[in-house]
Amino acid sequence: MLAFDRAHIWHPYTSMTDPLPVYAVESATGCHFNLADGRRLIDGMSSWWCAIHGYNHPRLNQAVSTQLSSMAHVMFGGLTHEPAVTLCRKLIDLTPANLQHVFLADSGSVTVEVAMKMALQYQSAKGRKHRCRLMALRGAYHGDTFGAMSVCDPVNGMHKLFTETLQQQRFLPRPNSRFGEPLSVRDREMLDVLFAAHHEELAAVIVEPIVQGAGGMWFYSVAYLQAVRALCDRYGLLLIADEIATGFGRTGKLFACEHAGITPDILCVGKALTGGYLTLAATLTTADVAMGISHEGGVLMHGPTFMGNPLACAAANASLDLLLENHWQQQVTGIETILRDEMAAYKDHQAVAEVRVLGAIGVVECKVEVDVARVQQRFVDAGVWIRPFGKLIYLMPPFIISEPDLRTLCRSVAVALDPPDAGQGPERP
Ligand code: PMP
Repeated sequence: MLAFDRAHIWHPYTSMTDPLPVYAVESATGCHFNLADGRRLIDGMSSWWCAIHGYNHPRLNQAVSTQLSSMAHVMFGGLTHEPAVTLCRKLIDLTPANLQHVFLADSGSVTVEVAMKMALQYQSAKGRKHRCRLMALRGAYHGDTFGAMSVCDPVNGMHKLFTETLQQQRFLPRPNSRFGEPLSVRDREMLDVLFAAHHEELAAVIVEPIVQGAGGMWFYSVAYLQAVRALCDRYGLLLIADEIATGFGRTGKLFACEHAGITPDILCVGKALTGGYLTLAATLTTADVAMGISHEGGVLMHGPTFMGNPLACAAANASLDLLLENHWQQQVTGIETILRDEMAAYKDHQAVAEVRVLGAIGVVECKVEVDVARVQQRFVDAGVWIRPFGKLIYLMPPFIISEPDLRTLCRSVAVALDPPDAGQGPERP
């Protein structure tokens, strides 16, 4: 199996000639993976921010199998169904009150495409066709499709490969005002200068609120987000919050925008939406944007085949119920306390540039790039599943993780740090 996989199957961001090794997983339960060779690993990644309730959860299994016995899928064009309507109702209830209209998509990247289309169509319907670009942050990551790639960091992202094809967007420097700090003088100046310079050509500004994920696991100031919101209001720009990674409690708030007390005009959610069971994401927006797009017979120009897939909606409904019943805030606060306690040990390590923790996210930034293949093997040998990228070794475990498992995960980071590593290219979640 592994030989066929290596010869024929692409894994995320890998080469066909020199792929990184993969490990065969046979089953997963709670916070553990069972590998085909009999080893058992503690999951430190929640399968890239998704599996917040762990694996093989009886309630999620039940929700999917009950739904399966009535229908797996029907097209969403001209039809609707209870799982989708219930989910959209829940999303409208959970998110800020101004977000009243929902588009169900099949992945995070697609919700970003939809959000961008919403913004462009809205400005065009308002007679502002020249407002056809977006502004994003350096260090951002918003997905792998072309629209989403165009708003990823232009240097660390994939811009170099696709310069001829990508829409040219505008970029603000990565905020240097850190989480917990006020707005820096530099950030204030750059925001003022770049909004003033570009607002006439901008439809919207897109941000990952508070935590930039795959572009560097960077936590920035609430004051920065507040300043972006205020400038969008001043210049009539829409604010798109990409909460695909941060949504559903990961940062210690249900949505990261809540740290700053701001509401976006368009919100993207995904990843943890189905508890990691099936691929589903959603774009929410305000009545103003929705009605603006629909003005004079306008329609939102998107409609994926698997839109509103009933199985995925049923999983999402059960996952959101569990999230609220399980007292996610207590779970995340508990994880944060242990991460702070354990990760502090790495602050003075010679290989470490910085340690940062927010909510259920713990990050050890190394001084040099991590040799992923070598470090991955060490982690597996230590009985943990931790997948570094670039200079970053990070933990974002399922919310249900036990204290002993979490402490084991944290302590296992040490196996990657000694001796300092160099080499291998980055992989983004
Ligand atoms: N936005 C953010 C903030 C993300 O973290 C990701 C996935 N890592 C995406 C968008 C893209 O989501 P997907 O992989 O589901 O297309």
